[in-house]
Amino acid sequence: MTAYTWMTGLLDVVGSGPAGGTVRQCPAHRDEIPSLSVRGFPDGSLSLKCFAGCTTADILTALRCSRDRLRAPPPVSPDRYAAMVGLRLDFPPIRSRRAGSPASRGFRLDAVHDYGPAVLERWRHGPYKELIWETVLPAGGRRPGLHGIAIAQLPLYRESEVRMALAAGEPVLLVESESSVDALRGWYATTWAGGAASVNVDRLARVLAGHPSLVVIPDHDPAGLACLARLRSAGLARHVLMPAPGHDARDLYHGLGRDRFADAVRRACTGHREAA
Ligand SMILES: [Zn+2]
Repeated sequence: MTAYTWMTGLLDVVGSGPAGGTVRQCPAHRDEIPSLSVRGFPDGSLSLKCFAGCTTADILTALRCSRDRLRAPPPVSPDRYAAMVGLRLDFPPIRSRRAGSPASRGFRLDAVHDYGPAVLERWRHGPYKELIWETVLPAGGRRPGLHGIAIAQLPLYRESEVRMALAAGEPVLLVESESSVDALRGWYATTWAGGAASVNVDRLARVLAGHPSLVVIPDHDPAGLACLARLRSAGLARHVLMPAPGHDARDLYHGLGRDRFADAVRRACTGHREAA
């Protein structure tokens, strides 16, 4: 377990929502609109940044953690740790300030994904899904909309981590949704802002082109295969790991389990194409 996986576990245990995304409720202030960006790095360390302005020290104090927790996990599980230090936090319900917002129509915030100058909120209501962009304000907080930021100008999802992984020669997985990236725990994975319909080939090529251990795991559906074709024509899909029909990278990871998934990625990197 890395410091990053331990800390995300602790945030789950104390109830910082929504679980799963890279932005959660900050434990150091009354956070109704998730403001805490949690980033993991290839060496297992992490950073904690509150868009509302809390310092890393504030956040660690609220979690009763020392600074060491940014670098190494303690020898106890997050739930045991929370019990041992008597950590009980009370997070307010997640809401949205806006009239006509998804929250006012019964949607629940499913995940928030950090794209640097902007965040992507994913709301869900039964089978329905809504995606909302918000701009991160330099003075703290966020406001709805992209305000002149072009989606194509945004960095790749978790781009800074992926750049470090590339520098270290680690495999990087290119998938077709933020939720797949977040599900691939222990891997350096990325996607682009805007979804399968608008593949940001320029940005992908600028960051990822020529990396020998780049493995594309497309969604195995018509939109995903169309997207794969675009990646292929841009020279970004030399190694492809294809999930079963109807499945995506997350399904493949959960279906195979950690070890067999790692084997499949290794085989894909060495040139064999894999149908799982
Ligand atoms: Zn905060």
